[in-house]
Amino acid sequence: MDSVKAGQPATATILDGRALAGTLRAASLAEATALTARLGFQPILAVVSVGEDPAARSYTAGIARACARVGLACRALDLPETITAIELRGVIAGLNGERDVCGVLATLPLPAHLPLSVIAETLAPAKDIDGITPTSIGRLALGEVAFAPNTPAGGMAILRHHAIPIAGKHAVVIGRSGIVGKPMALMLLQADATVTICHRHTTDLAALVRQADIVVTAAGRAGLVTGAMLKPGATVIDFGINFPEWAGGKMVGDVDFASAVLVAGAITPVPGGTGPVTNMMLLRNALTAARMLLATSGGA
Ligand code: NAD
Repeated sequence: MDSVKAGQPATATILDGRALAGTLRAASLAEATALTARLGFQPILAVVSVGEDPAARSYTAGIARACARVGLACRALDLPETITAIELRGVIAGLNGERDVCGVLATLPLPAHLPLSVIAETLAPAKDIDGITPTSIGRLALGEVAFAPNTPAGGMAILRHHAIPIAGKHAVVIGRSGIVGKPMALMLLQADATVTICHRHTTDLAALVRQADIVVTAAGRAGLVTGAMLKPGATVIDFGINFPEWAGGKMVGDVDFASAVLVAGAITPVPGGTGPVTNMMLLRNALTAARMLLATSGGA
């Protein structure tokens, strides 16, 4: 970890995700109220979880609270660990056919016998509010309108809200998972950035990060990026969620915030950066799906 020199001023603009989430929430509340009136029923966001993962349970509870605050209904389906792939496909197919369900989200992890593809290949693309179906991923890769995965969509919303230039900039994305790193790289590419994707086999991460105007971390490794690795003035979007022993149970990102804030031009804090915006992106996608319901039901 880089040390912070006493008295050295912080230089970076703090990209406050809580403030942006508040703005998005107010817009979502107005929109959900209007949509409910026009549909004649409250659209339901279904959250499917399999097994007893405490983090998934807490994520579901957070989504239920977020839905309640904007006036969307939330239905949590907590399915037993023993459910088979065929039974799970049946549950998803049932949700596909339910008129009032505008969107479906699956929490991770799923048990080892159930790859995410069981849900992703069954879920109707029109209800895919976390962008996991092959259709959504294909559309995103082609640069077409798509339900984008919520976490990277939140990162893009932060960049756009703060009018951070993307076109022509070099963005280095650390992490290549299908739900964070890879879709974030696609979205930055679509916004005309020059994109480098790094992962655990990348040699000399520091040399690549030093070239970046925008650094995105989605590795789940506390302290992976330090201030000494950054180009002065770079924008840092930190998706990492880590609870290392040295932080005494506190949540930290992938970036050593204390040293990075002295070098970066703008940086998301952890907590309070990308996290709060993620759930709001989910609600925005759910409202888009509800608007599509309205259009197909003859309204709009
Ligand atoms: P993952 O484990 O699926 O992927 C991690 C990626 O990081 C992999 O591609 C791996 O190659 C890369 N990586 C790991 N160590 C590395 C290293 N030393 N150098 C370079 N690359 C390395 O994780 P994920 O599901 O993509 O999540 C990434 C992080 O984002 C986690 O901390 C997760 O908790 C967090 N997350 C945050 C939000 C949010 O809303 N902010 C949402 C989802 C996930």
